[in-house]
Amino acid sequence: LAKGDGRFTFRFYTRELTAAATDRLQMETALRKAIDNNELSLNYQPIVDPDSGQAQHIEALLRWHNPYLGQVPPDRFIPLAEATSLILPIGEWVLKKACQDMRQLIDEGHPLKRVSVNISSLQVQRCDLPVLVGRILRETGLSPEHLDLEITETVLMDEPDKVLESLNQLKALGVTLTVDDFGTGYSSLSYLKRFPIDTLKIDQSFVRDIPHDQDDEAIAKAIIAMARSLRLGIIAEGVETQQQRSFLMQEDCERAQGYFYSRPVPFTKLLEYLTDKQTV
Ligand code: C2E
Ligand code: MG
Ligand code: MG
Ligand code: MG
Repeated sequence: LAKGDGRFTFRFYTRELTAAATDRLQMETALRKAIDNNELSLNYQPIVDPDSGQAQHIEALLRWHNPYLGQVPPDRFIPLAEATSLILPIGEWVLKKACQDMRQLIDEGHPLKRVSVNISSLQVQRCDLPVLVGRILRETGLSPEHLDLEITETVLMDEPDKVLESLNQLKALGVTLTVDDFGTGYSSLSYLKRFPIDTLKIDQSFVRDIPHDQDDEAIAKAIIAMARSLRLGIIAEGVETQQQRSFLMQEDCERAQGYFYSRPVPFTKLLEYLTDKQTV
């Protein structure tokens, strides 16, 4: 840290370091060891038929519990993992774990179509994602049609040619692609034509204030209609209330995800949810 040694330099640097920078450094040091120390885990949130609540897909959501820092929310550590490239090994861990768990669910006969895994833009840019995904599918024995990758609109903005090639290769493997947080990232819709996208996930900011906000309702309706005419799948995220559920059913939205149905839960809890909902 303070290279020139001697207490003076050290004190100088300590004073200069803001509390935030110290926190960040502490967190980075801890995050570097998180995989080896078994501090990472996955929660799963069902993606359901809005009417019946039957799970059709699940989304894997990363959790980090550190003995000193406690439970650190993804919104805090994912940006740090991206800034430090730690998202590359962490993202690989997530993919592998999600594929293993999904393989188990399929083997046990749960009628789930896919598991969705969040992919950071750095993974698309910096690692050979098609090779990595191909290897993990082989190692875990999961069929590609059971894996869905969630990317954000920002991924489609950087180096479009390279990204296009990468996404085409992923599609060739047989996995599906979802645009997460749809509507928040990019103003041009032309990428929907250009990239091999299967599903749009409406960002939760457009769902949150339904039915009170007319504009959000209009936007959600428009996205659902657009997805339908482009023959894309559609998921509404952040569904918390009965009124939002009714709205989505009325608009014939294919799938929904949110606390109204289930929070993201550990694997064992997911099994309970699946058993409850699937046998009725
Ligand atoms: P996301 O992929 O858009 O995930 C949805 C987030 O909304 C999750 O937060 C989920 O817990 C939360 N959520 C679900 N239903 C509701 C609801 O009804 N109401 C509200 N208020 N929130 C709801 P979480 O798990 O904290 O994750 C936050 C973000 O962190 C994710 O947003 C994703 O961008 C990122 N993330 C999580 N896991 C991974 C991962 O494995 N890799 C990468 N690269 N990013 C991840
Ligand atoms: Mg997501
Ligand atoms: Mg989202
Ligand atoms: Mg998000």
